[in-house]
Amino acid sequence: MSEWLVTLRKHRNYCLAERQRAFETNNQKSDEQVMYQYGAFCDLNSRSEYGSYCPLTCPVVKHGVMSAELTKSSKKHGLAWGNASDIQSKRTTELRAESEWYGRVNSDVLQGNLAKLDTAYNGFFQHKRGFPAFRKTSNFKSFQFKPGQAKLTVNCTSKKKRCYSHVYLPGIGSMRYLDSRTIPTDADIRTVTVIKEADGWYMSVLLKEPKALPEVPDIKTVPSAVGIDVGINKLISLTDGSFVENPKFGTNKKTRRQLRIRQRRVNRKVKGSKNRKKAGIIVAKLHKKIADKRNDHQWFAANKVVGTAAAIVQEDLNVKAMKSRCKPKREKGRFMANGQSAKRGLNRSISDVSWGELFSKIAWLALKAGKPVLAINPKFTSQECSVCHHVSKANRDGEKFICESCGHIDHADTQASRTILHRANLEFVSIRRKNLSGDSRKVTLVRDDSAIRGKRDQGKNRTSKACTERSRSVIPEKRILFEQLSLQLFD
Ligand SMILES: [Zn+2]
Repeated sequence: MSEWLVTLRKHRNYCLAERQRAFETNNQKSDEQVMYQYGAFCDLNSRSEYGSYCPLTCPVVKHGVMSAELTKSSKKHGLAWGNASDIQSKRTTELRAESEWYGRVNSDVLQGNLAKLDTAYNGFFQHKRGFPAFRKTSNFKSFQFKPGQAKLTVNCTSKKKRCYSHVYLPGIGSMRYLDSRTIPTDADIRTVTVIKEADGWYMSVLLKEPKALPEVPDIKTVPSAVGIDVGINKLISLTDGSFVENPKFGTNKKTRRQLRIRQRRVNRKVKGSKNRKKAGIIVAKLHKKIADKRNDHQWFAANKVVGTAAAIVQEDLNVKAMKSRCKPKREKGRFMANGQSAKRGLNRSISDVSWGELFSKIAWLALKAGKPVLAINPKFTSQECSVCHHVSKANRDGEKFICESCGHIDHADTQASRTILHRANLEFVSIRRKNLSGDSRKVTLVRDDSAIRGKRDQGKNRTSKACTERSRSVIPEKRILFEQLSLQLFD
């Protein structure tokens, strides 16, 4: 299988290079014949023709599609040339007879490899995706069998922890595999993808759902909904007051230390040596383990969320923007401290929790269960009171939420999840306040003024005392309530 990966990667890279070269040839404007313009030769320097220069020689045309003009002219010249993918596909078949390495690879897998390149090409020209890149060993790690090729014999009937089944892969042979998720006997098996990971080989089996997915009702008609607030201290906070913890698989002290030690072992070995490679594998295995743990925990969390209510309301987070670097600060041509070193740790934590992955898992489970998911604008959700909807930065004190306006006390994250649910409700009752944050801000401004006025009357000492007390956050809740009420009286 490792051998296959090498051949397939070379095949892909060669086809890509050929297409690129053909494209460059096409764009060389000359007054010669049309055929010359479109690249009659695979290599301009040697002017060698079809079949005599390189293993995949062919004139490949722009966008992988032959223009009507060229099709006409090639027919005139008695050449039956199709588009790039047709030519390369035909040549690949010939190549299997010529080369031992190509001959060993299953022909459908090889053609599928080419089809993948075509998809990448179409993505670039039609859907404005990135241009297909050359692949290194490190990012070419899988190949795919077409539906009906791989034969699975599931002989796992008992509910033992470790159970092996057998699979026959054409061109490779029969082998056993660890049955981690038993495939139902009546399942319609589609493509089978073989993937090389740090700790071994994996097989991803695509199954066709036997039943159609349930219809997702309109969110306005559901009987119950749950709001979720994602965070770093608590992975998920639900409206019912429960939490899903975040074990910080990749950023906790133990793992960080382990990673640091193992990474250092790699760095100390001679570059290009076998020992360095071996040490690198150990690091990769640890990363894989972290990813596996995270994945498992996220499925658990997603299942919990989806099982709670008939609809889910979440934040519409822009994780990429949250992870952005701090802007460089310049003073008289010198770069000043901009807080990036502190931000780096936060960015690492954000990468570790991977909310995006979690949201996609929730979306999939909800779709399977026929439950609607709504994403709302997350602006000021952590500062807004869920009872009186007063928005202020001072409402929050670490994990504690104390409303300045009504004295409502709650856990800050639970509070945020309730605000999130409330915002979705606004749309329920069709109040439709589009500029929600703008509205709330106006209110805040007025309240802030009065609060300052009140404090000024109280005198400086009193204010500073209140401030220190709040920041310590060790005062019993009753005392805080008292403080809140007195503030309101001054209003
Ligand atoms: Zn309030």
